[in-house]
Amino acid sequence: MTAPYRKVLVAIDCSDESADVLSRAAGVLEGIEGELHLIHVIEPLALAYGADVPMDVTDLQSGLVKQARDTALDYARQYRINEDRIHVELGSIEKTILDKADQMGADLIVVGSHTRSGLALLLGSTARGLVPGAHCDVLAVKMHKKA
Ligand code: AMP
Repeated sequence: MTAPYRKVLVAIDCSDESADVLSRAAGVLEGIEGELHLIHVIEPLALAYGADVPMDVTDLQSGLVKQARDTALDYARQYRINEDRIHVELGSIEKTILDKADQMGADLIVVGSHTRSGLALLLGSTARGLVPGAHCDVLAVKMHKKA
């Protein structure tokens, strides 16, 4: 029999759907002595809008980081995740999730996954972007809203 997952990294985008993704991830560790880590990634404004943002966005960015950290903390509290297992980081979403998974020795990454149609198909999903670079399993939890 394969060993149960013991180190799970759940990635949330802090939208309302995050509770569904988190509850799946917590469910994986139910009755098992394991570690649940949570990650939320903030894409630097320069990454999201190109390197030449024509103003100083430092304050705006620190405000966003603080807001995101508070929301992630709220979610984490509901699932009794220790503060040292909550990671709010700046970077590109997929790379930052993969780096954290490697760093903590995750054996499972849990992410939400939206059905895509039309132009959104061209963008691809976060889950799909994670699979090729992941050194562990990736669980894509189906979300009901379309991307
Ligand atoms: P998608 O199908 O690409 O819309 O993926 C949505 C899922 O990707 C979310 O439920 C999260 O699991 C993950 N995700 C998207 N954005 C972020 C983010 N900024 N930080 C962490 N995880 C994210």
